[in-house]
Amino acid sequence: MKTLSTVREMEMPHRSQQEIMAQAEHYGATNYHPLPVVLAQADDVWVWDSEGRRYLDCLSAYSAVNQGHRHPRIVQALKDQAERLTLTSRAFHNDRMGPFLERLCNLAEMDRALPMNTGAEAVETAIKTARKWGYTVKGVAHDQAEIIVCRNNFHGRTTTIVGFSSEAQYRDGFGPFAPGFKTIDFGDSAQLEAAITANTVAFLVEPIQGEGGIVVPPSGYFTTVRRICSRYNVLYIADEIQTGLGRTGKRFAYQHDHDAKPDMLIVGKALGGGVYPVSAVIAPEAVLGVFRPGDHGSTFGGNPLGAAVADVALQVLEDERLAERAAESGAYLMARLKKIQSCKIAEVRGRGLLIGIELTPEVGHARRYCEQLLERGLLCKETHERVVRLAPPLTIRRPQLDFMLEQIEAVLAG
Ligand code: PLP
Repeated sequence: MKTLSTVREMEMPHRSQQEIMAQAEHYGATNYHPLPVVLAQADDVWVWDSEGRRYLDCLSAYSAVNQGHRHPRIVQALKDQAERLTLTSRAFHNDRMGPFLERLCNLAEMDRALPMNTGAEAVETAIKTARKWGYTVKGVAHDQAEIIVCRNNFHGRTTTIVGFSSEAQYRDGFGPFAPGFKTIDFGDSAQLEAAITANTVAFLVEPIQGEGGIVVPPSGYFTTVRRICSRYNVLYIADEIQTGLGRTGKRFAYQHDHDAKPDMLIVGKALGGGVYPVSAVIAPEAVLGVFRPGDHGSTFGGNPLGAAVADVALQVLEDERLAERAAESGAYLMARLKKIQSCKIAEVRGRGLLIGIELTPEVGHARRYCEQLLERGLLCKETHERVVRLAPPLTIRRPQLDFMLEQIEAVLAG
């Protein structure tokens, strides 16, 4: 293995972080405002900047690195497959997609999966599936399908998806938007029931609102959602792109409530094992069976490189008991965080290793605290203005959790 110093000498000669950031800012579009650090290498829960400083990753690329950075089995799968076959398009079969889809369907206890690449593409796929199901199975009149979504949602950045966002900045300047969406409050099942009409085909919801500030719904919410959706013949779609694959201490976050299995599951992020974009919609035959050849597609979706990586990413999740470990580590972290005496902390909430520390309005923007944590070797990113999100790789161990807690205490206690 290359050492950190040889990588730096070979690939990053004589360039300060300032210079590298200035270059990216000069040539890149201005749609991001990253923390001032240039990452150059990673291993499991640790990342290094281009000048050799080490940080504990508490973001995991927004939960895309659940298995830890550069997991050896996942990287090996990537290399092995790269030596054999990388891309075929779906014009032909490839020998890796079938085994991957079988494993994914078994894990989700569903019949079929439709592989895509990014999360937003999978959400778009779920929307198309629900509409097609509405017209061909439920009998909704042509172009009348309605989908119910929640206020404060985050499902991605395509024009259709931002069109039903309640976040002004995500929408402003990007209209006109697609019709057919209705918004209700998250966690309120009475509102769901009241919003359903004869044209409602689906309810699209995150089990925990991640980008919305780690908002956990009342216990039993999804049991009621399931019952309502069944009663009115409406598809219940769980966007588990951030919460799925072990993050909250269960394989899927809907499993925290009993009898809450959705009709469609959307997964992404950690499905690609932190190395490659892979997403999918998973559903019963009665739902995903609505597609005919030519209805939908993607040049890269289901490609052999992604399928090989995702197949091993799922195996790692199971073999290393990452959901169970997230539950254990999350319980420890949550208990310790709740004990911190601080006038800066309004609330600590979350499940498993998806935890948000909400700061009090008086202390200002959470970014300031993320910058202080960065100085102390912790990579955190605020979500909304006042929430510091903690979502380390699920492989994290007790001493690393203690290191994290020490830094958080130093910055937030008092
Ligand atoms: N859905 C949820 C719940 C997410 O958290 C995200 C990303 O943060 C997305 C969808 C969009 O995924 P992507 O950025 O891969 O398009």
